[in-house]
Amino acid sequence: TGETPSRKRVLLKVSGEALMGDGAFGVDQKTVERIAGDVSDVVRGGTEVCLVVGGGNIFRGVAAAAKGMDRAQGDYAGMLATVINALLLQNALEREQIPTRVMSAIHMSSIAEPYIRRRAVRHMEKGRVVIFAAGTGNPFFTTDTAAALRAAEMECDILLKGTQVDGVYSADPKKDPTAKRYDQLTYMDVLANQLSVMDAAAISLSRENKLPIIVFNIGESGSFGRVLRGEGPFTQII
Ligand code: UDP
Repeated sequence: TGETPSRKRVLLKVSGEALMGDGAFGVDQKTVERIAGDVSDVVRGGTEVCLVVGGGNIFRGVAAAAKGMDRAQGDYAGMLATVINALLLQNALEREQIPTRVMSAIHMSSIAEPYIRRRAVRHMEKGRVVIFAAGTGNPFFTTDTAAALRAAEMECDILLKGTQVDGVYSADPKKDPTAKRYDQLTYMDVLANQLSVMDAAAISLSRENKLPIIVFNIGESGSFGRVLRGEGPFTQII
């Protein structure tokens, strides 16, 4: 631990919505398998990969709080949602013969290892995919912040945020046909213009740790591998 990784090490943040496929809620098994296939290809290519998975396809604390639920309690429920997604991704990766460990920020010893940084590093050095579940383990945070945190802890070369859009746009491309995709932005651009790509905590943490972020469309088959080879479309935040 603590050594500079000889292979490239990346963290992929998979949003909960990315697992819905064409559905409006929950999990589309085919989509989970396809994403696991994309991750497997990258792992077989010799890159060390760890994942942070969201839970927004199942439960979001903020949305529940808006309807009167206690925010912290809702956030804990949201973190449990990420564990469900993590187990599904683990299953799909293992069907691809990729050794995988789920490490949870909330202790759930029957189904996941507790998150211990040095053990996570060891797993990755051995070529295992580590899925970080339960976000940061704290309410009032997001899995984007968890992704920036774990990527910094794992000394990843890059943080990839897989979403439903192929990058960061000047406006919502689904609503505004004149919206333009940025090829590159600085952390300060994102913060100053409040671009809705990741929350400010995640951007600040990445900035402090000089962790480059790439935003891309994980809904496109094979996009994870292509983006790592430098093939667009994507937005880079540096
Ligand atoms: N969450 C939390 N702390 C964390 C990460 C997540 O409380 O460190 C909760 C929060 O309620 C959030 C939910 O888990 O709404 C699901 O995570 P997120 O919304 O980040 O998932 P995504 O948008 O990536 O699907």
